[in-house]
Amino acid sequence: MSAYAGRLAPSPTGLLHLGHALTFHTAAARARAASGRLLLRIDDLDRERSKSHFTDAIIEDLAWLGIAWEPPMVTQSERIPMYRAALERLIAMGLAYPCTCSRRDLLQVPAAPHEADNELLYDGRCRSKRVSEFVDGVNYRMRVPDGKTIAFNDENLGPQSYVCGKDFGDFLLWRKDDLPSYQLATVIDDAEMGVTEVVRGRDLLKSTARQILVARALELASPKWFHVELVLDADGVRMAKRSGAMTLRSLRERGVTPAEAIALARVTSVTSDC
Ligand code: GLU
Ligand code: ZN
Repeated sequence: MSAYAGRLAPSPTGLLHLGHALTFHTAAARARAASGRLLLRIDDLDRERSKSHFTDAIIEDLAWLGIAWEPPMVTQSERIPMYRAALERLIAMGLAYPCTCSRRDLLQVPAAPHEADNELLYDGRCRSKRVSEFVDGVNYRMRVPDGKTIAFNDENLGPQSYVCGKDFGDFLLWRKDDLPSYQLATVIDDAEMGVTEVVRGRDLLKSTARQILVARALELASPKWFHVELVLDADGVRMAKRSGAMTLRSLRERGVTPAEAIALARVTSVTSDC
């Protein structure tokens, strides 16, 4: 049996669209080619925006696409203690520090993964704070090694490298409303699920550098990476939840077949490179 394990990690904050179709189709094809397993994880840490009816719709749309995944489905909101234990290890190592800056001080506190990729460089105001153990009600940040280069090979896009403190700063690990950040939860889950290759959109490339940093600190093996081209909407911007017309649901209702949906996603993503 192959050791390959891939994963699909949708957030149940809306209906799947063409961008998901291309990424998930690629993930399924790579798992199949390696005779490996394909797991499903529901990234539902955004409490306000995650809805169980979107999880139901994800399962239905995956079946429509003909993408089979191996149970059990993993749900992030059920695994908070595991993320918390990882945070506590980072605190004990002096790598996570409490940040009491207000939202206004920071201009923006990202929640969703794609916003997290563009998380503003933190000015380091709270960097000198050290605690010996977890205290409730504050944000925690990762103390990144300024000037250090994080390099990795992308199985699709080739060599990538990012510089700590320049391309990204001390990023969020934990939010004061008692939730792990996208970066922390992803690292812990990918390791715990035994994922050997992460297939996802290329808008998360910079997050990969952050995740490698967290994995190394926790001595977890990093998976391989395969970042997929983005599907653009009619205005040439990354397809997102608001691009309602291109949900798989609406395409299906208009009589589009799964194969046609994948072909359409391919064409719209290739166009982006011209
Ligand atoms: N849950 C994230 C999303 O839907 C993807 C996270 C990942 O693949 O690491 O955009
Ligand atoms: Zn701060």
